[in-house]
Amino acid sequence: MEVIRAELAVIGAGPAGLAAGIYGCRAGLETILIEKGIPGGQMLLTDEIENYPGLSESVSGFELAERMRAQAQRFGAKFLTDEVKKLTTAQDGFSIEGKNSYTAPAVILAMGTSYNRLRISGEAELTGRGVSYCATCDGAFFRDQPVAVVGGGDSAIQEALFLAKLCRKVLVVHRRDKLRATKILQDRAMQNPRIEFVWGHLPIAVLGEEEVMGLEVKSVESGERRVLDVAGVFIFIGTQPNMFEIQARVRATKVGFIITDQRMATDEPGLWAVGDIREKPLRQVATAVGDGAIAAGEAQQYLETR
Ligand code: NAP
Repeated sequence: MEVIRAELAVIGAGPAGLAAGIYGCRAGLETILIEKGIPGGQMLLTDEIENYPGLSESVSGFELAERMRAQAQRFGAKFLTDEVKKLTTAQDGFSIEGKNSYTAPAVILAMGTSYNRLRISGEAELTGRGVSYCATCDGAFFRDQPVAVVGGGDSAIQEALFLAKLCRKVLVVHRRDKLRATKILQDRAMQNPRIEFVWGHLPIAVLGEEEVMGLEVKSVESGERRVLDVAGVFIFIGTQPNMFEIQARVRATKVGFIITDQRMATDEPGLWAVGDIREKPLRQVATAVGDGAIAAGEAQQYLETR
């Protein structure tokens, strides 16, 4: 198996990893970015990004991702497609294993998060046949049809607003009577005539055999059940960290978000964590790139003084 060496290895190429790549290269470090899919992370699943400073007009997440990728490449970042399975400490730094092996004295973990599953009847069976975790990818299949969006956070409301451009009706099913999403998104959703709210309800089953025929929900208060007549169910109920086996001193929260100090350092010298995978108060593109920049700067200093 080929062993690829670098001074700085960044695992994951979402906005945090891409920023680490840009800053790492500009600091003169030979930098590799190992990513299992297309660079961009969750930006790729986002229709419009309008809160990233400097964008006087919103851009698609895909476009912003592509610009960051091209920028990192321009400064010399080397992109490698691989799914990392294991990281261990080695004599001269770290050893990373995927299809190939990599070694680097400095590593930045930037694997991001994935959307949670509801784990209700019909969800897994009908994923790709009406159940989706990406409105930008699948919304067009439900043009002029009614759909449900499950959740009350930024993702759910942002995606509901996107779906409302295409779908006849968007039913937002939320377990409480208050949204968690940012005020500006809430206001837009409340004012959108195609968006309706199903407050205080939990989904209990996605109905249908070959395709989605409805979503059965239950009132949290009364337990009463009813079926929402929808052709698609979009689920945005939070995220979980994308982890692999890490044999190093890395502390994490109960759910698995990596704990760092304000310099993005884990407890293992030479190992940093950035972006959504990190335990942090605000998960945004803007905070992800800040994390990446800090960690790359720290990596440069660490390698200089080592
Ligand atoms: P989130 O903020 O954790 O919200 C998850 C939502 O799902 C909450 O409303 C929660 O209800 C609900 N929920 C959780 N478990 C559930 C269950 N088992 N059944 C039914 N409902 C359930 O997650 P997110 O919206 O994916 O956002 C993740 C992070 O990315 C956040 O930090 C968010 O700010 C950020 N983000 C930002 C933007 C933006 O700025 N435009 C866009 C997307 C994401 P409760 O409210 O009752 O807990």
